[in-house]
Amino acid sequence: MRPSSLYPLFASIDTLTGIGKRYYELMVNLCGSKVIDLLWHLPSGIIDRRCNVPLSQAIDGRIWTGKVRVIEHAPPRTKKHPYRIVVEDGSEQLILVFFKVFGDNITKQFPVGAEKIISGKIEIFNGLLQMSHPDYVVDADKAEQMPLIETVYPLTAGVTNKMLNKQISQALARTPDLPEWLDKHFLTQQHWPSFKEALWAVHHPQIFADIEPNTPIRRRLAYDELLANQVALAIVRGRLKKQKGRSLVNNGTLKEKLSAVLPFALTNAQQRVIAEIESDLFCDYRMSRLLQGDVGSGKTIVALMTMLNAVECGYQAAIMAPTEILAQQHAETISELCAAIGVKTALLTGNVKGKTRKILLEELANGNINILIGTHALFTDDVIFKDLAYVIVDEQHRFGVKQRLSLSQKGNLCDVLVMTATPIPRTLVLTQFGDMEYSKIDELPAGRKPVATTVMPLSKINNVVEALVRKLQTGTQAYWVCPLVEESEKIDLSAATERFDSLQKIFGTDVGLVHGKMKDAEKDAIMEQFKQGHLKLLVSTTVIEVGVNVPNATIMIVEHAERFGLAQLHQLRGRIKRGSESGSCILMYGYPLSAVSHERLNTMKATEDGFLIAEEDLKLRGGGEILGTRQSGFSNFHLVDLSVHGDLLLTASKDAALLLRQDPNLQSERGQNIRTLLYLFEQDEMVRTYKAG
Ligand code: ADP
Ligand code: MG
Repeated sequence: MRPSSLYPLFASIDTLTGIGKRYYELMVNLCGSKVIDLLWHLPSGIIDRRCNVPLSQAIDGRIWTGKVRVIEHAPPRTKKHPYRIVVEDGSEQLILVFFKVFGDNITKQFPVGAEKIISGKIEIFNGLLQMSHPDYVVDADKAEQMPLIETVYPLTAGVTNKMLNKQISQALARTPDLPEWLDKHFLTQQHWPSFKEALWAVHHPQIFADIEPNTPIRRRLAYDELLANQVALAIVRGRLKKQKGRSLVNNGTLKEKLSAVLPFALTNAQQRVIAEIESDLFCDYRMSRLLQGDVGSGKTIVALMTMLNAVECGYQAAIMAPTEILAQQHAETISELCAAIGVKTALLTGNVKGKTRKILLEELANGNINILIGTHALFTDDVIFKDLAYVIVDEQHRFGVKQRLSLSQKGNLCDVLVMTATPIPRTLVLTQFGDMEYSKIDELPAGRKPVATTVMPLSKINNVVEALVRKLQTGTQAYWVCPLVEESEKIDLSAATERFDSLQKIFGTDVGLVHGKMKDAEKDAIMEQFKQGHLKLLVSTTVIEVGVNVPNATIMIVEHAERFGLAQLHQLRGRIKRGSESGSCILMYGYPLSAVSHERLNTMKATEDGFLIAEEDLKLRGGGEILGTRQSGFSNFHLVDLSVHGDLLLTASKDAALLLRQDPNLQSERGQNIRTLLYLFEQDEMVRTYKAG
C-alpha cells in the first residue's frame, strides 16, 4: 500500500486552491491530474528582475526593474487610444502604456508624485522609453512584494505563468519530508541535497544555468527516478529467475543436421548468441531475453537453431511476427530448412481459415507440428499446443514490460526470446528492458555490400525520377518512401497518394502503393506483388519499415528525410541491403533545413552502424521516439534526460543490484525507504502487475 505520507502528493489537483472546472482540464492536459504531476513539470526558463540600472541605460526588449516617480497622466483621446502615464527615475523618463482602462483604478494606483517600484519589458519607440502593462507595480516601501526572479514554465493557452507558479508553490508546500533512500556515503560523496530540498530548488532557479539538466540538483532528482526504475526492473527480473521453467538440455542432433544443410557458416556473433540463449534454455528457470541484431545480421537462423532445442526435447516452439508478410517470410525460410531435417512446421495467420485451420489445430494439439510460425493469431484462445516450451517474438521491441510479462505467463513454463532489429542504445536497454537478459549480434555475415547514401534537396526530384526510369529498365526494383507528417496520418496519406498518382503517369502499372490505412490483407497483397517482381516501384508510408525481404530491391528514395528519426531511416535503409547488389539510398530534404537536420542527414551518409546512429538519435530525440512507443507502457521519465544522465543510469543499475542482493525483500531501513521511492515514481504498479499475473 502507498505510504500515507505520500497521500497529499497523489491527491487530485482540484484540491489545490484556484483550480476551477475549466482550468482543471487545461492543467490535466498540461501536467497531469495529480499534485505530484505539477512537481514533475520542470521550468523552461527564468525571468530575472534583478537588473538594476538607471532608465537611461535600459535596453530595448529587456526586463527593467526599478523605482520611479509618477509625473503626469495622459488619458486617451478616444477609447481606441491607450492610457499613458509618464514616470521618471532621475535619469530618464519612461511612458507606461495601458490599453482598455476603465474607471479610476489607474489614477488611484499611480497618484502623481507617488513612488513605485515597477517591472516589465522595455520598448524603445521613436527614441522614447515605453513599458506596456508592467508585470509588477508595488509601493516603494514594499519592495519585498516584488519577486526578483520568476520561474518560467512551459504553458498552454489559458494557463498563465503566474497561475502555474502559484499552484506549483502549493504543491511544493505539500511535499512531506521523506526518509532518505539514497546510500548515505554516496549522498555525501555527491554533495547532493535531500529530495525535498532538490525539488524545491529545481522550481526556484536563480540563474539561467540552473535550468540545465546537469546541475547537481537535477542530477539528484534524475538519480532518484532512475533508481526507482532500476529497482523495479531488478525485482521483476529476480522473480522471473526464481520461476521454475524446464531444462531443454539435449544432445544437439537436430542442430548438427541443420548445420550440415545450411548454405553458409554461422558468424562468430551468431554462434555466441546461440550459446548465450542456450545457457538459459538448458537451465531450469524461465528465460526472458532480448536479442538485438541489426537488419540483416541473421536473427532468423539463430531463432531456428535455438528452437530446435525444444523440438529435440519433444516440446514445441513458436515464432510470432508482427505482420502477415513477415510471418510468411519466416515460414518460407524455416520450413525449407526444417523439411530437410525432418522437423514439421506450420504457418498460422488470420488468413488460415476453415478446414485447413481445423486440421492445423489438430496437428498442433497432438504434437505433430513441432514449430508453429505466425502472427498474433498464434495466441488466440482456440490455439492449443500439445506442449509449448519456447516462444520467440520477432520485431516486437514495442512491447512494454507489462505486455512481455503477460506473454511469458501465457505458455506453460515458457521460455521467451524477443528479437529486434531496432538498434537500441545501451541506456534504453537498461531502462526499458532491464527485466530481461540481453544478447546482441554485433557482426554482419561477410560479403554484405555497403549502401551508397546521397543527400539532396527535393528540388532535384526530376533528376531523381529520370535516373530511376533508367535503373528500373535494368530490372532493379525500388522503394519510394513518403514523408511522415507528425500528428497527421491524413496528410501523410494524401502526400503518398499524390506522389503515387504523379509517379503512375511515368511508370504506369509498374508502380504500387501501400500505406498504413490499408487493411492488412490489402497491404500484404501489394507487398507480395512487389516481392514477386510484378511491381517495380513501391510507393509507401513507413509501413515497410520492418523486416520485409525483397533482395532485388536495391534502391530507396526517401522524401522529406529530415522528418524521420535516424533510427527509422536506418531501418528503412536496411531494406535495400538484402541482395548481392550494392544498394543506393537517396535522402531528399525540403527547405528550410536546420543545421542540426543537415548534420543528422550527414550522419546517415557517413555511417551504416546502427548503434552509432541510435546514439546520435537519442541525443536529439527522446527514447520513446526511438522505440516508437511514446504511449505504450514504457516508462516515460519525468526528470531524466537519458542523453545527459546516462552515467547516472549505470550507477543506479549497480546500486539497485547491490541493494537487492543484500536486502531482497526490502526489509532493512534503506529498503523500507526505497519502497517509498517506488511509490513516489509509481513503479509499485509494475512490481504489483507482475505479482498478480
Ligand atoms: P535479420 O536479422 O534482419 O532478421 P535474416 O535472418 O533475415 O536477418 O537474415 C538475412 C539474410 O542473411 C538471409 O538471407 C539469411 O539467409 C542470410 N544469413 C544469415 N546468416 C548468415 C551467415 N552466417 N552467412 C551468410 N548469410 C547469412
Ligand atoms: Mg528478421
